[in-house]
Amino acid sequence: TATPVTVTVTGAAGQIGYALLFRIASGQMLGPDTPVRLRLLEIPAGVRAAEGTAMELDDCAFPLLASIDVTDDVTAAFDGTNVGLLVGARPRTKGMERGDLLAANGGIFGPQGAAINAGAADDVRVLVVGNPANTNALIAAKHAPDVPASRFTAMTRLDHNRALSQLATRGGVPVGQVRNVTIWGNHSATQFPDIAHADVAGRPGAELAADAAWYLDEFVPTVAKRGAAIIEARGASSAASAANAAIEHVHDWVLGTPEGEWTSAAIMSDGSHYGVPEGIVSSFPVTSSGGEWEVVEGLEVSDLARERIDASVAELLEERDAVAGLGLV
Ligand code: NDP
Repeated sequence: TATPVTVTVTGAAGQIGYALLFRIASGQMLGPDTPVRLRLLEIPAGVRAAEGTAMELDDCAFPLLASIDVTDDVTAAFDGTNVGLLVGARPRTKGMERGDLLAANGGIFGPQGAAINAGAADDVRVLVVGNPANTNALIAAKHAPDVPASRFTAMTRLDHNRALSQLATRGGVPVGQVRNVTIWGNHSATQFPDIAHADVAGRPGAELAADAAWYLDEFVPTVAKRGAAIIEARGASSAASAANAAIEHVHDWVLGTPEGEWTSAAIMSDGSHYGVPEGIVSSFPVTSSGGEWEVVEGLEVSDLARERIDASVAELLEERDAVAGLGLV
């Protein structure tokens, strides 16, 4: 049998953690032939609840689940980790300034990056889900100088999937026949869901985008504000869809994207793609093979797209400068 892969999930007792862990343990993230060792990291107040989740995981008797450890010790949590899903983050609370939020998250993602640097496996791959995800990923990467920066990513896959779904509805086609949308920039309201190169059951996305009133006044805000709409309807933030996107991100990163299809992921910019400056974690159209993301080259960027990408990138640069000012990167 294959050697187990060690998967560390932070914020394991949270909503997303609860929707995520059972799918990892059942093999949906790394495939049906790969056993997993789960490490659940929580803050002390969350440990008891995470232990309860671990009991339920035991009770599923998943054949692929080799072990589960629950801890509040960041060093122990990342020892030998192959895949890190950084879900736990400090939510913005009433009256909290942005600087306070960034500082609080720096206190979480800095030490986690350092623990990954010190103890994770050589092939470690990290997905940051906890918000502000792009900048949290940057902070973690900066604290892990011995780990290639390409191993730190942030999640825009849920935005990508939301765009696929909205586009399928508009085109009146099954979502499985829609592909190659792109989320550019930050996982925030400034993100740009680009459908210019999409394939909507054989119909070019550009044709749908030509209806600017629909595209810019309906589609783009619907995708960008979907999280708020779900909170409004459900009375709680999206959890299963966020967990699903995390599963798909890691699945595709490790096992590859299908031929002829790309997805979206926020990766460390090296400054060589689409005019995005180096040193920020920004979302691009990407494919994966051999366990590495690669930016899809040569897509035409319209004036509209340029303007929207630049605006989201400007926000990422501001976030980077803010955390640099706090000494976090
Ligand atoms: P959730 O599990 O619902 O969310 C966790 C994080 O994911 C939040 O930062 C949330 O951002 C983010 N997120 C990213 N994309 C989405 C999306 N599309 N929809 C919803 N959320 C998204 O939070 P809970 O409060 O239920 O659980 C958090 C857990 O993390 C708690 O158990 C807490 O104890 C733990 N924690 C653990 C830490 C650690 O292990 N060191 C550190 C800090 C907290 P947003 O806030 O913007 O919704």
